[in-house]
Amino acid sequence: GNTLGMLGGGQLGRMFTVAARTLGYRVLVLDPDPGSPAGRIADEHLHSAYGDAWALEQMAARCAVVTTEFENIPAQTLHTLAGLIPVRPGARALECTQDRGREKAMIQSLGLETAPFERVTHKEQIKAALAAVGTPAILKRAALGYDGKGQVGVASLAAAEAGFDHLGQVPCVLEQRLPLEREISVVLARGVGGETLCYPVAENIHRHGILHMSIVPARIDHATAQAACRAAIQLAEALEYCGVMAVEFFITTAGELRVNEIAPRPHNSGHYTLDACVTSQFEQQVRAICALPLGDTRLLSPVVMVNLLGDLWADGEPRWGALLEHPAAKLHLYGKSQARPGRKMGHFCVLGDDRDRIITEAETLFAALSGEVQHGS
Ligand code: ATP
Ligand code: MG
Ligand code: MG
Repeated sequence: GNTLGMLGGGQLGRMFTVAARTLGYRVLVLDPDPGSPAGRIADEHLHSAYGDAWALEQMAARCAVVTTEFENIPAQTLHTLAGLIPVRPGARALECTQDRGREKAMIQSLGLETAPFERVTHKEQIKAALAAVGTPAILKRAALGYDGKGQVGVASLAAAEAGFDHLGQVPCVLEQRLPLEREISVVLARGVGGETLCYPVAENIHRHGILHMSIVPARIDHATAQAACRAAIQLAEALEYCGVMAVEFFITTAGELRVNEIAPRPHNSGHYTLDACVTSQFEQQVRAICALPLGDTRLLSPVVMVNLLGDLWADGEPRWGALLEHPAAKLHLYGKSQARPGRKMGHFCVLGDDRDRIITEAETLFAALSGEVQHGS
């Protein structure tokens, strides 16, 4: 069959669906939300719970292969599907990344470094954990956190204990807050036969724990970029990964490379590939899971990507004028009907030969969306 199954119906699933169609495939999306961005444009949309046995049977019957855009698909769902059809990436890779403690332990077991961390599952463990990692620290819930949600900054034992209560006393990791020079990420693909290909390293600027801007090429030296790519490939191989994945890194003020986390799917910091690379990360996901040759990851132009969060819709539609008039800006909207603060509604890219200049242009265009800057008047 030429139908591909997608677990999750968010914007990553939507961009995958567009890429799959371009290559001649049909897409079946499973997402409980009947209005999900990917479900709305898919060839077929099952809006059942991820654990629904009937939905999984349907998926297995109709799809050649199943992939995911959401790392928190229940492990049981992945195992059930894997008994029926190929699931790429596999359950083992997803399960590893579903728990920050497990993920960091796996990273360290390969000889790669993370921020110093301790697992915390009971309040009595906090004192020793804090003594081990020191302050300032960050307490993060081990599962289900994203966009900086489910984490609290910690400067004292009292704050750590209050934070643990605030997070609902769920299993957590307490990690040292590193002094950061920069954040970067590597998106890579690994094919069915184990071949790997990295995209150029992105430099990521966060605001309030959410990605604001990615700059490509990252403003780092060649040796650091190479070390990051090598580490990302090492992680993909250890996970016996098939598909597209991303690895987030910190570069500390001392110049050390530390792995932050793994995303077992295309990544927000890889959206620039849609406009600036020969093969987008979503086309690459299609190619990898369908056992097609991987596409060229070459960068065609320096690029800056800026996220568009729901906050921009607070007073109605953003002012698109300047962005649409710019000769080298590309707007992408995800078709979400409800704009909420912090919700990812879309992004735009600005391309150009001069990296510093497109960073400034992107900030100017971003400010113009909320009317902070009067453009052309
Ligand atoms: P994502 O949406 O990327 O999955 P998340 O909720 O999993 O986000 P993290 O990536 O762990 O969160 O952290 C979000 C941001 O908070 C990081 O990109 C970084 O800016 C900051 N941060 C997290 N951990 C640390 C740390 N140990 N030291 C310094 N800064 C950190
Ligand atoms: Mg994360
Ligand atoms: Mg992150």
